[in-house]
Amino acid sequence: MSTTRIAVVTGAAQGLGRAIALRLADDGLDVVVADLASKSTQLDQIASEITAKGRKALSVITDVTDDEQVKNLVQQAVSVLGGIDVMVANAGICPTAPLLDLNIQEFDQVLSVNLKGVLSCYVHAARAMVAQNRGGRLIGASSCAGKRGAYGSAAYSSSKFGVRALTQTAAIEFAKYDITANAYAPGPIDTPMHTDALEKLKASKEFQSDVTMIDILKAMSFSRPLIERLGTPQEVAGLVSFIASKDSSYITGQTISVDGGMSF
Ligand code: NAD
Repeated sequence: MSTTRIAVVTGAAQGLGRAIALRLADDGLDVVVADLASKSTQLDQIASEITAKGRKALSVITDVTDDEQVKNLVQQAVSVLGGIDVMVANAGICPTAPLLDLNIQEFDQVLSVNLKGVLSCYVHAARAMVAQNRGGRLIGASSCAGKRGAYGSAAYSSSKFGVRALTQTAAIEFAKYDITANAYAPGPIDTPMHTDALEKLKASKEFQSDVTMIDILKAMSFSRPLIERLGTPQEVAGLVSFIASKDSSYITGQTISVDGGMSF
């Protein structure tokens, strides 16, 4: 049996998921990359980049809001690549709306992707890991907005607090199988999600079009990062690389900030 470890990364077509998938390949893991059908071209491109690094790669179109599709994703990792050692439940969406303008269907959709999607990933990955009997790593995407509420962030913040709770529960229930569960909590990171959210906030009546990222963070009720710049996807991938590694074996149930010192 191959000793190469195998990772699955959702939302891998761009942004943090892309950086995480490439970093795990650099770390020597074979990687299954998953994203929506609308991102199939980017997904195949990333799979090619992973293959070019000498690792095995598989791209699987997956909508994480559909539990059956997540089950299939994990089954593909097991049947094609030979198992699953790391699940990075990274896919997420970030629409913003003040509570007075909140659309309840949009709230449901955010919870469905950001929280229920992570639940499906954790459960199906954990079932496969328990069956394999070689431990594993469950890793979820929380956020600085999962540590405190923020303006316009009712749905997003609720979902990211939820990821923290889910990760703690998974840590408690799966420790006996040598499966750890941890989440990463990024601050503002330079990805398409961040750019889109910033542009929407700048266009809203609450802000002037020339406001800076720091102004908006302050208005959202976040403190300014001590390191006054956006983080890079690679800086988040570095944290995930460590959590995914065997070196993190005594760390579980944590939601770890990578936010330039916005919170401590
Ligand atoms: P992004 O929008 O750049 O990329 C997210 C990816 O998830 C996209 O490729 C998208 O197609 C995919 N996705 C969306 N819905 C999906 C679904 N239903 N099924 C499968 N894939 C789906 O976002 P990002 O900045 O790379 O963020 C990645 C994760 O990190 C998200 O969970 C996000 O909430 C979290 N996060 C990001 C930041 C930031 O500043 N960028 C900060 C805190 C937390």
